[in-house]
Amino acid sequence: LDVKRLTLSIGVDLGGTNIKFGLVTSDGRILKRLNIPTNAEEGPEAITSRIVKAIIGLRQCLKHNSDLPQAVGIGSAGLVNHRQGIIHFSPNLPGWKDIPLKKWIEDEVKVKVFVGNDANAFALGEFCFGAGKGSNSLFGITLGTGIGGGIIYNGKLLLGINHAAGEVGHTSINAFGPKCRCGNYGCLERYVGAEYIVERTIKQLKNHHSKHKTKNSEILSCLSNRPSRETRIGRQCRDVPQALTPEIISLAAKKGDALAKTIIAETGMYIGVGLANVVSMIDPEIIVIGGGVSGFGKLLLNSIKKTVSERIMNFAGRKLKIVLSKLKDDAAILGASQFEKFLGHE
Ligand SMILES: [Zn+2]
Repeated sequence: LDVKRLTLSIGVDLGGTNIKFGLVTSDGRILKRLNIPTNAEEGPEAITSRIVKAIIGLRQCLKHNSDLPQAVGIGSAGLVNHRQGIIHFSPNLPGWKDIPLKKWIEDEVKVKVFVGNDANAFALGEFCFGAGKGSNSLFGITLGTGIGGGIIYNGKLLLGINHAAGEVGHTSINAFGPKCRCGNYGCLERYVGAEYIVERTIKQLKNHHSKHKTKNSEILSCLSNRPSRETRIGRQCRDVPQALTPEIISLAAKKGDALAKTIIAETGMYIGVGLANVVSMIDPEIIVIGGGVSGFGKLLLNSIKKTVSERIMNFAGRKLKIVLSKLKDDAAILGASQFEKFLGHE
């Protein structure tokens, strides 16, 4: 029987499609969840008032007033001023420019609000309750539409003087690479952001078709009953290339599609190059890989590990763990619930 009094807090994962809330205990259990659509087109005021309503609702479901969570942590993509709780800009939330989210919510509900970057929330979640529990330093990387990163060093979140530390997605892995939307060239995100994985796949599919017009390629041999000149991916994206997603590539790879496997291995190689740079800079104890694209699984992880070990200085006794996220979709909620501890006493 747990007689210890647990402090409760609310963790919020503010995404472009959904806003996920969790009522979280100080030992990382999610007692209650709430998931509401973001409806990003409605703009910051409407979204904030729905967040306020959800917070009030979560607090009301508690029997005793003494249990009331006093802190709310909100993780959002983009550039967030964690000291003032202002979202300067978010790729997920069009129209959000310098929004004082902390103030807006604190004006409505009697709670302390902390706002931070979603990749930092992910890293914190894994550090406190997930794959990095018990470690001292951790690098978290989130793979999705964008590529985010969070650094925990000596048990502290490293935020940077401009709140912009850990942006591994915008480190260049090719000085002469394609231009990224951030203005830099050859950014990691420009190769392994979801849409660029799809772009690389379509390109290779076209190459494949022109190279193997007459003879059966090994990719064709993995096709099921139906005779076709295309790979699984090819069939699925023939008519609507926009419909191709990393999930479909993942599915095709699981069914043995060689091109899909190649794409995943190549994705891991690019990520490995980026992470080798991270390891050389901060020498973390553990790297945790999360976000939707980490659903590529073992194939991706092995390729990342191989590339990192080929590209860092190897010496006897070097310690480094590279693992997939343990908390998956809950990492950001759990991490954000700890923002008070990690952002509040800076
Ligand atoms: Zn960039």
